[in-house]
Amino acid sequence: MIKLTSYFNDFAHLFFPHVCEGCGTDVLNNESLICAACFVKLPETGFIKEPNNPAEKIFYGRIKVEAAGSAFYFTKHSLLQHLIFQLKYRGNKDVGFYLGKLMGSQLMQTNRFDDVDVIIPLPLNPRKERKRGYNQAAMIAEGIIEVWKRPILKDAVQRLVFTETQTHKDRISRWQTMEGVFATLNEEAIKSKHVLLIDDIVTTGATLEACGEKILEVPDTKLSIITAAYTI
Ligand SMILES: [Zn+2]
Repeated sequence: MIKLTSYFNDFAHLFFPHVCEGCGTDVLNNESLICAACFVKLPETGFIKEPNNPAEKIFYGRIKVEAAGSAFYFTKHSLLQHLIFQLKYRGNKDVGFYLGKLMGSQLMQTNRFDDVDVIIPLPLNPRKERKRGYNQAAMIAEGIIEVWKRPILKDAVQRLVFTETQTHKDRISRWQTMEGVFATLNEEAIKSKHVLLIDDIVTTGATLEACGEKILEVPDTKLSIITAAYTI
């Protein structure tokens, strides 16, 4: 029996051909962003199912997290770097959805995040979001819940001011610049909830820490964090 959906996908492929984001081959399942050969080369960290992993340790002594993890290593000139670049600077939001689905599958393989109630994508500065057209963390969250079912809360926390890239600053001044960047708009929505905060990449953890701090100010909340990528 011919499956109508797959027939339709093959048919649609003729009109909307797309190639592998990794190597450019056009031998691609319509649902996929990269081919099977590139997929196996994605550097999975295994952090999401591993307690005390390096991504989780970033937050030790800074903010109380129930669990944290990152799905893939972010290395220079890697396919993952290319994908994140497409997502953040080339308007390719499908990348976010795709990475999110992979993260959702990783979440399905562990019980470490089972008592999470809601997902919050790290909010972008509204001006930046308007310019990009979307929040990449929200795209990732949409992909996650396609596989790992949880409600997404988009407007419970808001990002207020614009912050420049802060890689040249030390941790103390970075922390000071993060003060007052996030505000809770809807405390009722997250009160007594275990929140899973999502972002594309974790480097110093300063932004996630600042946003997580705001979430934990709401009575009886718990916090977990996952990102698509982890910088070595
Ligand atoms: Zn490929």
